[in-house]
Amino acid sequence: MSFTVALVGRPNVGKSTLFNRLAGKKLALVDDTPGVTRDWRSAPARMGGLSFTVVDTAGLEDVTDDSLEARMRRQTERALDRADVALFIVDARAGITPLDRHFASLLRKGKTPVLLVANKAEGKAGMPGLYEAFELGLGEPIPLSAEHGEGMADLVQALLPFAPKEDEEEDEVEAAPAEGSDLPIGDQPEPAEDLAKPIQIAIVGRPNVGKSTLLNSLIGEERVLTGPEAGMTRDAISVDWEWRGRKFRLVDTAGMRKRARVDAKVEKLAVADALRVIRMAQVVLLVVDANQILDKQDLTIARMVVEEGRALVIALNKWDAVDDRAMALRQVEDKLQATLAQIKGVEVVTISALQGKKLDTLLDSILSTYAQWNRRIPTAQLNRWIEGVLEHHPPPLVEGRRVKIRYATQVKTRPPTVALFVNKPLDLPESYQRYLIGHLRETFELPGVPVRLLLRKQK
Ligand code: GDP
Ligand code: GDP
Repeated sequence: MSFTVALVGRPNVGKSTLFNRLAGKKLALVDDTPGVTRDWRSAPARMGGLSFTVVDTAGLEDVTDDSLEARMRRQTERALDRADVALFIVDARAGITPLDRHFASLLRKGKTPVLLVANKAEGKAGMPGLYEAFELGLGEPIPLSAEHGEGMADLVQALLPFAPKEDEEEDEVEAAPAEGSDLPIGDQPEPAEDLAKPIQIAIVGRPNVGKSTLLNSLIGEERVLTGPEAGMTRDAISVDWEWRGRKFRLVDTAGMRKRARVDAKVEKLAVADALRVIRMAQVVLLVVDANQILDKQDLTIARMVVEEGRALVIALNKWDAVDDRAMALRQVEDKLQATLAQIKGVEVVTISALQGKKLDTLLDSILSTYAQWNRRIPTAQLNRWIEGVLEHHPPPLVEGRRVKIRYATQVKTRPPTVALFVNKPLDLPESYQRYLIGHLRETFELPGVPVRLLLRKQK
């Protein structure tokens, strides 16, 4: 399934340049002379996981002797007819011209939704035009540089609401690349596709901590519910919703409802269940009753999340019913410090599922933790880091010799995984590896997600 995006705007604002960038081909001739060599064109485009058809309006070499305005209006109307959304492009460097205003009024009257794009916004030269563009009454302009490819992620974000829902098939948790592939990925550009795909969340926790209540509050009326659907696995049901333009998918709510009815004596079962759910999720939300802080079972689940390489956020629920809040928080921090050093800095959010309090904070934490889980650290930064470490805290001597660490590169995200090339991997003590992981986490600020280190042999 696809949708159609029309590029509209006066000549020379960069429509062809953007068209080429979106279509990924050198299809159109681009020229500094206004209105040169253009035609009515459409092409399939793919950007950041979105597929759509892009339609350019031009054909200004039309040989009628109509006025420029009249011809443009005809072209634009034709394009708008078949478009789901129009990108109205202005030139941020040139500022807003009378022709732009003419266009804007045309577009405001039409039925097709319009996104305002301020092109040529690279560097500071585009700033005045960007502010002027607000005057057009078409909402906030999206700054872009079609020529330099800047701002494309924001454009994808803005287009997302117009995209038809993806097929269920594509929504599985992304498979990890095969172990042992040590190609650096830290230097590749961020894949913008993550924005289009829902973040898969699991809610886990002991019976009666408030998981079902939280689910209901999260997808309550004030949020856009994009449909409860059967899917995923045989007995799981997922619920999708959106919040601040991001898609979320809660997995295994069916299992959760079932579990809620089972009583507390089957705790072993609950843990096995949790493991199954954790494997379906990207971010795991561990719900804890703030009045019975982090017992053994909570910590077991938290450890499983780390071992499975998922991102973790802890919700301290029933905060409304806590008497001594300062003490409750201190207790949680002490317990986490003592037992979950592997994911130092995990986000702990105090909420009341019943009263719907702090749920925005909770979703914010989920987003930021998810972002860390997807982090890419450039190889150059990793190597500067490892050089610093070797200088101040080199590995211990083994039989009078020091293991040589050659270089580091990130080989995987979700969770961040760094390969370390060393001459004798077996001689690098566990304790030193743990030190490296902790230091890496602090240096690159990766709270709440497991960080992995792979040792690779290199002479
Ligand atoms: P169209 O007439 O709207 O299709 O505009 P074109 O795509 O032909 O671009 C007109 C001129 O603007 C060309 O010289 C492009 O190289 C230039 N241009 C397009 N996009 C950008 C941009 O993002 N920044 C700058 N500085 N110039 C651009
Ligand atoms: P689940 O077994 O984890 O799904 O827990 P439920 O959602 O069924 O909640 C168990 C009990 O805790 C219910 O009586 C809820 O009303 C109550 N509860 C849930 N969230 C809160 C909360 O934020 N504050 C208070 N005071 N009670 C809550």
